[in-house]
Amino acid sequence: MSNQISNENPPVITCIGIGKSYSETTTAVRDLNLTVNYGEILVLLGPSGCGKTTLLRLIAGFEEPTTGTLSLGGQLVSMPGKFIRPENRKVGMVFQDYALFPHLNVQKNIEFGLEKSNKSSETVEKIVNLVGLEHLLKRMPNELSGGEQQRTALARALVPNPTVMLFDEPLSNLDATLRIKIREEIKEILKQAQATTIFVTHDKEEAMFLAD
Ligand code: ADP
Repeated sequence: MSNQISNENPPVITCIGIGKSYSETTTAVRDLNLTVNYGEILVLLGPSGCGKTTLLRLIAGFEEPTTGTLSLGGQLVSMPGKFIRPENRKVGMVFQDYALFPHLNVQKNIEFGLEKSNKSSETVEKIVNLVGLEHLLKRMPNELSGGEQQRTALARALVPNPTVMLFDEPLSNLDATLRIKIREEIKEILKQAQATTIFVTHDKEEAMFLAD
């Protein structure tokens, strides 16, 4: 997170006074200001229930903020009276449970996000190589290890070339050894892809390792 806003390189993510109340008694996010610069990894660390997932959902457009404005890649996507729908935001999201389509093989899962965009298969090939899945393209999700499923989910999110990548506790379902290996891989892949990222975790060590 940076407090410096330069005109030459405006932040890719800007939240100003963002708030979300689900009801009169439940305020999940209150008056939040943050910026994330191009290629930066911001980690949100905090206990369960502190509002991390809600913030990701606001940025992705799955929730509408109660207050404040939100810009992605220089485009105002949420403000009072204006709301850009999730499918029209260039956001890639990776979830805790990977959310792969069980009836599609690895290749079809990865290509899923491309239906509405014009990316060439070169892009798919590049990302598949980046995440090291070349030899598993024909496998079904239930034939993959947890780490391989997570790399498939990561590739699927990266392929449409999103402006912003959001991760919601993506390593929670992996055992301790694999967690460390996959977080190293994820960091390397995000840095190579120069992805602007918000990563949510409740694991301090993971946060310290991943965050810029
Ligand atoms: P975290 O990701 O840090 O665990 P959440 O953003 O999921 O936190 O939740 C923040 C607060 O908002 C919690 O008190 C939670 O119960 C509440 N909350 C989350 N989603 C909803 C919802 N759809 N309706 C009502 N309350 C919600």
